[in-house]
Amino acid sequence: MEEASAEYAHLPRPVLPRVAPQELLLGQKALVTGASSGIGRAIAISLAHAGADVVVNYVADEDRAQELVEQIRALGVRALAIRADVGDETQVGEMFRRMIEELGTIDILVNNAGLQQDAPFHELTLAQWNKVLAVNLTGQFLCARAAVREFRRRGVRPNISCSAGKVICVSSVHEVIPWAGHVNYAASKGGVMLMMKSLAQEVAPYRIRVNSICPGAIRTPINMQVWETPKAYNELMKLIPYKRIGEPEEIGRAAVWLASDYADYVHGISLFVDGGMTLYPGFQTGG
Ligand code: NAD
Repeated sequence: MEEASAEYAHLPRPVLPRVAPQELLLGQKALVTGASSGIGRAIAISLAHAGADVVVNYVADEDRAQELVEQIRALGVRALAIRADVGDETQVGEMFRRMIEELGTIDILVNNAGLQQDAPFHELTLAQWNKVLAVNLTGQFLCARAAVREFRRRGVRPNISCSAGKVICVSSVHEVIPWAGHVNYAASKGGVMLMMKSLAQEVAPYRIRVNSICPGAIRTPINMQVWETPKAYNELMKLIPYKRIGEPEEIGRAAVWLASDYADYVHGISLFVDGGMTLYPGFQTGG
């Protein structure tokens, strides 16, 4: 492998000014994949509230994507919607080409697009396996590769950010918690964990930061069956020490912090935002 650049090795520790919340990401260009619903939508809005211009990637629901673009523009930043299947190399290439043409560059990639196709393992089809891996893992690889190419080409602009770029992977508590009946999904998120950490190790010398956010149970369409009835919600609470479901905006706030220079020394981590789901609540009473 080519020797990593030592260009930034002698830069002093950055001294950060106090910044108003709406200016934390001022002038930065963000791409959020799968942003027309759920967590991606909330992240896109949160980044815009912090001053970033935002590309809303979507795959199917154009009306919802356009509606979000209007909502983001009303905050005084730029926004555009770009349709692309993140698992398709050509479409991802075209999405990045358009983003760079329209906004000049990319500073923040949020790899959020994801899906579940659940089945008992003995009934899991190759098509279900391939689809979940294609979107949840290959999609994150394709988008991260395109972003890293642009970060490396452009380098650090100190008036914009301490780093040349940020990749935030939306993983899951299931990158560490095994999940029966969802083997393809858990395998994809376990893959995201080591893709993220290996990439973080590789690109750190270029001042490119790579991290994951690992949500626990968040109220979105992907998991409606675990929160839409009181019975299901009560069952879910057995898994959450903090005794409430998470809201998409809480992931949005975590993304703003991770993308901002306030997190400039945070690199290669999985940030669990899960109300304690990863604390093995089954052992709360001594096991
Ligand atoms: P969601 O279904 O609302 O959002 C997923 C988005 O990804 C949708 O907008 C969907 O259209 C998009 N998408 C699917 N395939 C795509 C493709 N090929 N190309 C582009 N976009 C595509 O669900 P969500 O809960 O908001 O999920 C967002 C992310 O958060 C996912 O990666 C999911 O695994 C992760 N997550 C969610 C939870 C939760 O409790 N909701 C928990 C842990 C992790």
